[in-house]
Amino acid sequence: DIGIEFGDWSMPKVDKETFMSTRPGVFFGGDAAFGPKNIIWAVAHGHQAAISIDLYCQGKDVKKERPAPASSLASQKMGIHEWSYTNDYSAVRRLHVPHVKNEIAVKHLKVEVELGYDPAQALKEARRCLNCDVQTVFTPKLCIECDACMDICPVDCINFTVNGPEPELRSRLRVPAMNKTQDLYVSGALKTGRVMVKDEDVCIHCGLCAERCPTGAWDMQKFVYLEGQTCKKGQAFSYQAYIR
Ligand code: SF4
Ligand code: SF4
Repeated sequence: DIGIEFGDWSMPKVDKETFMSTRPGVFFGGDAAFGPKNIIWAVAHGHQAAISIDLYCQGKDVKKERPAPASSLASQKMGIHEWSYTNDYSAVRRLHVPHVKNEIAVKHLKVEVELGYDPAQALKEARRCLNCDVQTVFTPKLCIECDACMDICPVDCINFTVNGPEPELRSRLRVPAMNKTQDLYVSGALKTGRVMVKDEDVCIHCGLCAERCPTGAWDMQKFVYLEGQTCKKGQAFSYQAYIR
């Protein structure tokens, strides 16, 4: 007995925050800890396990002394119609990754089937990004209810209306919000008693509402989240690199 307990599917029992097994000082991550997932999970587990190992080697508590994550929300406005990100909406459909011809792929088992994009295709595909890290942030007290943002929104996801029970409110939006797993954003009461309701499922993050708003009640703000790191200098460096 090496002191490691095993559970479902004969996998080691691992703490999901620290990645330490039931034997102190032995850590697991990725497929070896929780079964098959993707490589992104495995890398994240590796980062968290490395933090635990560092703390453990220093004789510190791997749970209580974990470094906190950092986050920020910052305006991306650079000028009246200028943003730090590309906000042109592209209706171009997804490009399929080019493959080698079937007759070559079946003949040579070692040949790489997916050829990948060339630089021009990669740029085109990247431009389809909906900038999900850039959020529309609404400040109700600045809104004068001119309805200009509602007017310009290309997908009609902004609504100024009287409040009501959620199912009924969902059904009378300009584009009814049928996806119940997506919360609606409902502002506090505005000066006329109406509320602003937005369905995030429909928003394409184009920033036109923030460009049109005469009072700055809408802003496009980027959300950055960084896992905690034991090295404060390293965390500050990664943070700066990311928000650049
Ligand atoms: S960012 Fe664009 S799509 Fe989203 S609410 Fe504003 S105008 Fe509408
Ligand atoms: S454009 Fe600005 S001020 Fe006018 S309704 Fe929209 S958020 Fe309010």
